[in-house]
Amino acid sequence: MTTLLDGKALAATMRADLAGKVAAFAAAHGRPPALAVVLVGDDPASHVYVASKVKQTAEVGMRSVEHRLDAGCTEADLLALVDALNADPAIDGLLVQLPLPAQIDAASVLNRIDPAKDVDGFHPVNAGKLAIGEPGLVPCTPLGALALARLARPDLAGLHAVVIGRSNIVGKPVAQLLLQENCTVTIAHSRTSDLAGLCRTADLLVAAIGRPLFVTADFIKPGAIVIDVGINRIALADGKSRLVGDVDFAAVAPLADAITPVPGGVGPMTIAFLLSNTLRAASLRLGEP
Ligand code: NDP
Repeated sequence: MTTLLDGKALAATMRADLAGKVAAFAAAHGRPPALAVVLVGDDPASHVYVASKVKQTAEVGMRSVEHRLDAGCTEADLLALVDALNADPAIDGLLVQLPLPAQIDAASVLNRIDPAKDVDGFHPVNAGKLAIGEPGLVPCTPLGALALARLARPDLAGLHAVVIGRSNIVGKPVAQLLLQENCTVTIAHSRTSDLAGLCRTADLLVAAIGRPLFVTADFIKPGAIVIDVGINRIALADGKSRLVGDVDFAAVAPLADAITPVPGGVGPMTIAFLLSNTLRAASLRLGEP
């Protein structure tokens, strides 16, 4: 029988555990960990994500600080805010919600964040640490994808993992994490030939593509673990819309040993690991392991 990898439930368990650790941190240091979130402009999806992050940060007992800048702000305005938050000793974690307006170079902004406060794990120092296997802050969505894969099978060693997608924020860090788990990892992308055939050799398939229902039954080795990172909104005939993943769940689930749903899979895990990274950044900044 196929196991549903329930990210909503696992994230709730993680948050309950984190709330206890946050309370212990606050008791030891006289203040809870603090996360600053910077939102630029009016992107509706970004507003929803930021509201969720702010709410869940507060729910586990951490301090949440939100900064909003107008869509027309300059890169210099944003960099000045990042500099101020980097310098503020009361802020432990800092993230700038993506995407940014066209006049701002996202890489310049992400590179300006203090790596010790980089709870998204996107700074080149943290990406480099992940690549060479040194402890650092690791991107949240890849951590969520790995946690769900380990829910299906605690020891992933020796599995052939195929990751579809090579972005810096999902595909590459997922592949690095799976390599650290001793998987044999193949990274596929838009120029991969015979993608479905390659995926049929995967014991563990991670889809991080951004194309609705792209992965069909034809991609699946029977008994595989399937982790769907994709979040896509599709229009329905009645004028409404719904969220779907990169995997055609209905077609793939009967073949898989374990599979994540969308919504309720990797998505909730991403915010849970953001909270976990914030506590980690706070502890590391105070010299704790
Ligand atoms: P990107 O657009 O940055 O990367 C997509 C990757 O998919 C690229 O490497 C691209 O290949 C590859 N790709 C695109 N089309 C094909 C194709 N036809 N065949 C094979 N590979 C293809 O996306 P992200 O990595 O940022 O995000 C991926 C998905 O994950 C999206 O749906 C996004 O919404 C979702 N997401 C979910 C999060 C969560 O919290 N659950 C967080 C972040 C993202 P190439 O490099 O050759 O162009």
